[in-house]
Amino acid sequence: MTFRASILTLYPEMFPANLGLSLSGKALERGDWTLNAHNIRDYATDKHRSVDDTPSGGGAGMVLKPDILAKAIDDVTEENDPRPRFLMSPRGKPLTQEMARDLAEGPGAIIVCGRFEGVDQRVIEARNLQEVSIGDYILSGGEMAATILLDAVVRLLPGVMGNKESGDSESFENGLLEHPHYTRPVEFEGRPIPDILTGGNHKLIDKWRLEQSQELTKQRRPDLWKAYLDGKKG
Ligand code: SAH
Repeated sequence: MTFRASILTLYPEMFPANLGLSLSGKALERGDWTLNAHNIRDYATDKHRSVDDTPSGGGAGMVLKPDILAKAIDDVTEENDPRPRFLMSPRGKPLTQEMARDLAEGPGAIIVCGRFEGVDQRVIEARNLQEVSIGDYILSGGEMAATILLDAVVRLLPGVMGNKESGDSESFENGLLEHPHYTRPVEFEGRPIPDILTGGNHKLIDKWRLEQSQELTKQRRPDLWKAYLDGKKG
């Protein structure tokens, strides 16, 4: 099954951008996934091709019109389209590795990129858009957020990441941040690689890495550390 991404945006030229290079770009060339970016403005009906209007009730900025957006969504939605629909939005559910994994196992996604103040609430409800946030800060548009969501998903698609193991020990996969990495030279500006990593005892190395992971998580992410400990108990 090929993962199919359809993007709705006012700036289709912002895709594939980063996704066309490196791991995700090679996967795109191989056909492991597809990406189609559609211009919301193509669905505008008036002679100015307007896609936004002033906020009802007053206030700053502009709001994406529900009728135009709904037409765009309906047009890219195929018959019995199994793909979930998302709206990139700072009010959304925070993007997590778990979400990326779930999505990577599915048929793809239809992703709406907001602009201006955002989109009319009624189209979110009427087209069942799941709001997803990439973090607690405000971007000027949803395009980079959509790129980030897709990057997190595509690298998990079967065959995309060369070394399966490098996925399993990664930060968040086991509820912990990843241990530190080292490579040659053996000494860098007076700093040696920790002896344990060059000693060849894989049991000890695994133990050291787990301890480092735990320590880092404890120090940097008390929220993850607590969830990890709770998970061990439960
Ligand atoms: N007025 C809105 C922000 C609009 S920013 C508010 O206060 O909630 C314009 C668009 O950028 C949004 O519609 C959304 O699609 C995108 N965007 C901004 N920040 C984002 C974030 N943290 N995560 C995902 N999308 C974001």
